[in-house]
This record gives sequence, C-alpha cells and structure tokens, in this order.
Amino acid sequence: MTHRDPVAAAADAAAPAASASRARRAAWLDALATMLERNREELVAIAAEETHLTAARLDGEVTRTAAQLRFFAEVVLDGSYLEATIDTADDTRTPPRPDLRRILRPIGPVGVFAASNFPFAFSVLGNDTASALAAGCPVVVKAHPGHPRLSRRVAELSRLGLVEAGAPEGLLGMVQGMEEGVALVRHPAIRAIGFTGSTTGGRALFDLASARPAPIPFYGELGSINPVVVTEDAARARAESIATGLVGSFTRDGGQYCTKPGLVFIPDTDAGELLLSALSDHLALAPSQALLTEQMTTAFDDHLDAADLGEDDVLRGYATDEGTAPIIITIDMEQFLSRPEYFAEECFGPLTVVVRYHDRLDLPHALESIEGSLTATLHMEPSDDVTALVDQLTARVGRVIFNGWPTGVAIAWSQHHGGPWPATTASVHTSVGASAIRRFLTPTVYQDCPPRLLPPELSDDSDIPRRIDGILVLP
Ligand code: NAP
Repeated sequence: MTHRDPVAAAADAAAPAASASRARRAAWLDALATMLERNREELVAIAAEETHLTAARLDGEVTRTAAQLRFFAEVVLDGSYLEATIDTADDTRTPPRPDLRRILRPIGPVGVFAASNFPFAFSVLGNDTASALAAGCPVVVKAHPGHPRLSRRVAELSRLGLVEAGAPEGLLGMVQGMEEGVALVRHPAIRAIGFTGSTTGGRALFDLASARPAPIPFYGELGSINPVVVTEDAARARAESIATGLVGSFTRDGGQYCTKPGLVFIPDTDAGELLLSALSDHLALAPSQALLTEQMTTAFDDHLDAADLGEDDVLRGYATDEGTAPIIITIDMEQFLSRPEYFAEECFGPLTVVVRYHDRLDLPHALESIEGSLTATLHMEPSDDVTALVDQLTARVGRVIFNGWPTGVAIAWSQHHGGPWPATTASVHTSVGASAIRRFLTPTVYQDCPPRLLPPELSDDSDIPRRIDGILVLP
C-alpha cells in the first residue's frame, strides 16, 4: 500500500517499527549510513551549491552524519538505553510488592525540524532522525528551506535504502513549507518534535505543541551565547594561543554554529591588552564568508547596526568583495552591564563580544545576567582558584570546557548538547550523544505480566544490562 501523506504513512509504520528487533533497527541505521557514503560526491555538490559552505566542510559533515547513524546503531544493540528494571514479587514487604518490570518504549511518530547550519548532521538524516529511528519511532522531517534540493535527494535515497534494508514503508518521510511544518506539529499522529533553529521560531512551535488538545513534548535547541572567561593568569601565560583559538572558533564556517563563543570576558590589565592586540592581529587575517542565507546576512547586519558603538570598539576582519567580514566588538564591563540583553543575545554569524573586566568579583554578576547556554569555556592556569566560577557556569550551561573551545561537538556516550532555556526547551535532554534517544522513549511498567506477553528485553533470560531487585546485572 502506498501513502501520499507522510504522516499517515509514519502512523502506519509505528507498530512495525516498535516491534522490530534491535538488530533490525541497527541494520536500518547502518543502511542509511552506507547510502550517505555511497552518494557522498553527488550530495556534497548539491549542498555546496545551496549553502555556501565549502566542499571540504560538507564532506566532513557527511562522514560525521554516517558516524552518528552507526553510533546510534551501537546504542540500540547495547540495549542499556531501555533502562530495563525488574523488581521480583515479594510478599514479605509492607506493602507487598508484585512483580514489576519497567522498560522504555518508542513514543510514536516524531516530527523533526531540520537545521539550516548543518545540512547533513542536523538535517534529514541528522541526530534527531537517527536517535528517533534508533528508539523505534518513524520520522517525518520538515525540510529546512536553506537546502531544499539536498533535503529532497537525501529523503529519496533514504527511502530507497530503507526499503532495500527491509524497513517498513513510511518509516522516514518529509514535508516542505512553513504551513506543512505547522500542520506537522498539530497532527494528532505526531507524538514528539525535535527542532533546531531560532529562539523565535522554536518558541512559536513549542507553544503550538503545548496548545494541542493532546500536548506533546517539543525538544527545541534554540539560541546560545556560549560565554568564555579568561583569567588574568591565563591571559598572561597564553595570549597568543588563546587569540588563535578564539578567532578560529568564532569565525569557523562563518560563525554559524550553535556553539560559537559569542561573549568573552578578559581582564582589563596589561595581559588583557596583549590578548586583545593578538586577537586584533589574527582577526585581520580572517576573511569574509558568505552566510547560509540572505536572511541571515540581513539579520547579522541589523544586529551589528544595533550595537551603536564607535568605530574603535568594532574590530573588523579581512573584508573581501563577497560575504560577511568577521567582527569583534570590544566593550568594558560597565557597557556590558548597561545592555546585557543586547550584548548577550546570540548573533548568528562571525561576531563575538569581548568584555574587559576590572575585577574578577564583577564576573558573577555579569554571568548572572546571561541566559542559559549550551556551553561555557574557562581559560585558566593551575594557580587559579576557580571553584565558585565553575559552580556558577555549571548551573547555567550543559557543557563546561577547560582551556579549549566549544565548537566541535564529539559524538560520544557521555556527550550532552543541551542547556537551560533558551539553549533548549528541555534542559534535561540532549540532541547529541547516546542519551538523545531518551527524548523519543516513554516508560511502561508491567505488573504481574505473563512472561509470554513481556517485551523480550524484560524476560528472565534477556541479554541486556538490567537492574534486578536493585542490583545492576550485566550480560
Ligand atoms: P528558524 O527561522 O527558526 O527556522 C527553523 C525551522 O523552523 C524552519 O524549517 C522554519 O520553516 C521553521 N519555522 C520557524 N518559525 C516558524 C513558525 N513561526 N511557524 C512555523 N515554522 C517555523 O531558524 P533558521 O532559519 O535555521 O535560522 C535562523 C536563526 O536560527 C539563526 O539566525 C540562528 O539565530 C538560529 N539558529 C540556531 C541554531 C542552534 O543550534 N541554536 C541553529 C541554526 C540556527 P520555514 O523557514 O519554512 O518557515
């Protein structure tokens, strides 16, 4: 039977996807990874035409996306993500305990809003799709208008790859257009949404998901300023390498990263001056780059115009005929505290704000005025006492980086790519790393259930990690 409506097709695929064995689901993910790699050349060429990103960057992104798909295949096969927990019956307890067996089950069809800035890794076959398919949920992607041809081609090849791998028809569908996106969020068959994009767009769709007669979880990754703090000792010891690292990080791929360091606190001392001078030197060599879409270029220019600062406070990179030159805005702490809502607002593109602080004791107040972020970075030396600072940063972000840079998010079991609002709509969850799968699972407890009706992972001879009567049991 063929479906023209991808959501209806996804609804039909929900039961077979949920009941498919973990090995079968892992094979589907592996087939998608192989399909991407086989069609790498064609797909990179389309992506380069549509996004202004370089072929080298896009090629690396295909590798990353295939690795993500295979990583989630590994997660599925491991089985610990199911949190299988068994409490055997015990009449001697007060109150008596029946046989209780808990497991996580797929939530149902998932809507995924693709991001603009990762045409592979956060798009049709990106992290949201990979983790939802791994969980056993069909996916309907709302394609991003920044790379429509690429989205259509990836969706088409994915469907063929999935059919070949024996997956149910309708497991992965796609819609295009704003109204179709709204309809997707409202559709009663859709049980959860994954989103990466702007705070405004994400908030509008989050509200829509909550206003449904039956509300659904909306996992949005929105805006993030990603603060950096450089201590006096670090500035004195490593001005040159910090300057190289910061310019490289905030200008990487036109600064179009959700993890771009957008706000940097440096000391207002001689060491800080040296650091600023090194930053200016490196920036002068950083060339313009065309941004992903015209709207993003306009939004970047509008944001810069609103800075309302003298030319001395705006350092510019190497301007070429085309594209957007990288910018460093330099201000002092008083200026920052007079307009934190402007200086600490994410500006998508190659711009960062450097704030000179006179006294480290001013930092807690300044950091308090910043909203939640995906990351925070600390440049420090062993001599620095930063315990209170680390505690404060930990409370406001999902990942704290020491003497490194936040751009580049490793795919790993422990990864957390999330943070308090507006970094995400649900700070307990992540869109990268093994636990991204948790967003698309929901628990069920089986009480005194006949063994033949239990999911295989809850049977007595299951081969996955389980907690039995409070003790973790490994296979
Ligand atoms: P966006 O404007 O929020 O769009 C993202 C997706 O949501 C698109 O598919 C868009 O569809 C849809 N959408 C947005 N608002 C909607 C609404 N009110 N109703 C229905 N659908 C809506 O984000 P973007 O185009 O990718 O980039 C714009 C800004 O997002 C950037 O400047 C940046 O600030 C931020 N961004 C953040 C991240 C991050 O990871 N935090 C990543 C990328 C971008 P249509 O365009 O078809 O309407």
